[in-house]
Amino acid sequence: LDCPICDQGGECDLQDQAMGYGFDRSRYHENKRAVPDKELGPLVKTSMNRCIHCTRCIRFATEVAGVEELGATGRGESMEVTTYVEHALSTELSGNLVDLCPVGALTSKPYAYEARSWELTKTESIDVLDALGSNIRIDTRGAQVMRVLPRMNDDINEEWISDKTRHAIDGLRYQRLDRPYVRKAGKLVEATWDEAFRIIAERLGKLEGGKIAAIAGDQCDAESMVALKDLMANLGSPNIDCRQDGATLDGPRGSYIFNPGIHGIDQADAILLVGTNPRLESPVLNARIRKRYLHGDQVAIGSIGSIADLTYPVERLGAGAATLGELVEGRHGFFEKLKAAKNPLIIIGMGALARADGA
Ligand code: SF4
Repeated sequence: LDCPICDQGGECDLQDQAMGYGFDRSRYHENKRAVPDKELGPLVKTSMNRCIHCTRCIRFATEVAGVEELGATGRGESMEVTTYVEHALSTELSGNLVDLCPVGALTSKPYAYEARSWELTKTESIDVLDALGSNIRIDTRGAQVMRVLPRMNDDINEEWISDKTRHAIDGLRYQRLDRPYVRKAGKLVEATWDEAFRIIAERLGKLEGGKIAAIAGDQCDAESMVALKDLMANLGSPNIDCRQDGATLDGPRGSYIFNPGIHGIDQADAILLVGTNPRLESPVLNARIRKRYLHGDQVAIGSIGSIADLTYPVERLGAGAATLGELVEGRHGFFEKLKAAKNPLIIIGMGALARADGA
């Protein structure tokens, strides 16, 4: 009954089953079952009448996301999927509930009634909002990005993406800097692109190369940064940088590119986190560490710096460089665990590198 007004229309397992095998009229002689909708926060919209009690959402929240917030009350016809005490979900992976709900019980709140799946052009891409590089699909209608969905890649993000990856597209739509401004007599005045570029060329042309510098932002793509580098080379400037936070990324590239690969986490038998909170910085990677913790044999996980709840037990080793020093010299208890490990994994975050003593 809900199909014409349901956001899951066109990509709903139940709709497909009904289309393939269903009877063309309702068999129910009893009253229709009505379930009050639940408030799960700003990202997940609920229409609990449609819930088929598959419990996928409950298992995802409990097992993958590591927050035991969803559950079921009642039995049989009285069963309801709920957060018990109504509150917003506190996981950074909540958008995945929308993907894994086979029907339209959980849908995306920001995307509600925006588009139908068959209107969208689907483009496969890679997420740039964290260092993980999740595989994503960008659904567009005309020039507008309507939604971002995950793509399967078992080596990287499996089938999940973080809420940041999924919902950052809001920033493409609202409050964009879409016209240039030029400062005239201390005030910013709206200008045309021609005028802006003429003024840039005029002012840059007067300067020596050494007095010009370029800083690339964290979200720039490689092509734009190469173009900027070429421009600076032509202007005779050696001053280029892309480290917004002054992080010390020295040494051979091989020392900071996550050599074992994301899937290597599955084999790790001791994990040391240094200056990082993976739950915030890369929620999908954090879910992978949790997966490692849940499966197979014991894994020792230690952390220097972060004291956050990472959804798995973490040994707090200390808060700063002193602890790291103790560990390096073998004076810390965790040293033996790292030494005994066959596949130790050390994850160093920007919290450790973007400090005065980062090097
Ligand atoms: Fe209900 Fe959807 Fe959760 Fe399944 S995933 S229990 S259909 S809300």
